[in-house]
Amino acid sequence: MISYGKQDINQQDIDAVIEVLQSDFLTQGPKVPVFETTIADYCGANYGVAVNSATSALHIACLALGLDQGGRLWTTPITFVASANCALYCGAEVDFVDIDPITYNLSVEALEAKLIVAASVNKLPDVLVAVHLCGQPCDMAGIRRLSLQYGFKVIEDASHAIGGRYQDQPIGNCANSDITIFSFHPVKIVTTAEGGVATTNDKGLADRMTLYRSHGITRDPELMTQEPDGPWYYQQIELGFNYRMTELQAALGVSQMARLDEFVSRRHALASRYDQILESLPVTIPSQHKDSYSGLHLYVIRLQLDKIESSHKQVFESLREQGIGVNLHYIPIHTQPYYQQLGFKVGDFPEAERYYSEALSLPMYSLLTEDQQDKVYTALEQAVK
Ligand SMILES: *Cc1c(COP(=O)(O)O)cnc(C)c1O
Repeated sequence: MISYGKQDINQQDIDAVIEVLQSDFLTQGPKVPVFETTIADYCGANYGVAVNSATSALHIACLALGLDQGGRLWTTPITFVASANCALYCGAEVDFVDIDPITYNLSVEALEAKLIVAASVNKLPDVLVAVHLCGQPCDMAGIRRLSLQYGFKVIEDASHAIGGRYQDQPIGNCANSDITIFSFHPVKIVTTAEGGVATTNDKGLADRMTLYRSHGITRDPELMTQEPDGPWYYQQIELGFNYRMTELQAALGVSQMARLDEFVSRRHALASRYDQILESLPVTIPSQHKDSYSGLHLYVIRLQLDKIESSHKQVFESLREQGIGVNLHYIPIHTQPYYQQLGFKVGDFPEAERYYSEALSLPMYSLLTEDQQDKVYTALEQAVK
């Protein structure tokens, strides 16, 4: 089976992890700060806070921005559930903004229309999670303008987008947002097995996220309510979690980051090749906005079902039967049973649902060969015939 995504681990990565295993620290040592600096420097952000997953990063980002009971977070329905769940962890409410039919990212037009209504009933969001789907950045200039006008905070969920650029600036520099989060799950662009990082330019936000990552405990006398009792002393000043990244993960991440640009350019070469070979088939290839250099975590096509005899499901099944590990990113969150129980209904976000009825993620990862890509093409040609 040719999977849809796969990690790319070389001998240097392996050596880096072994070196940590033989060192004094398996956790809370020197590698995590190095990884944080590596990410922050790459992205051009002032701070990086490493955690054990992007889901944890989303949670502490929301907490650091003050999201709590009675608060509201908006995001796109076409994303992994974690982009929305983070609000529920904080006791806040979630709502969605429908997608743009061309980029499949949250539509800034739909956002503006929804904000106008929300303002009139005094229910403006506190936080917007802008997800860079497939690695293609959202219209961040548009989102920034609305965030200033309506006073909400912005988190970029860049789980798909490390190594990508927006208006020729690295994604993660937070030029148009408060916090950007990344995922390092093995299917993503670079991996730490499990792991995430939040970048920000705001020291206060970085400090709060650091606190929430580790039980809300500080050893910094500046932050304490009294003089330390002695050198052993620490204080818990918030309710935090154990969301720490291990030294093994950080070492793997530092080593992987050395090849990030190579990974992304390989993904671009594969995407251009897909664009060319798929031209003759009844599918819509991904459209890239001129402001965007995508991280290309995913290569999503849409089936032109009016030109295909089989159904979406049949095409999907045929590809799987032919050994092509296609996938579907994503099932619209508002149609999940858990969210239906919160009051969302099928039909609420029609553009997202239309996307879901046609989308298919083809294999895309740096180790994919042209031979394998040709197999994907042949299988797809067979499936849509
Ligand atoms: C993978 C992913 C996450 C969650 O990442 P983890 O590191 O697995 O917690 C969140 N948002 C998006 C868009 C993702 O693709």
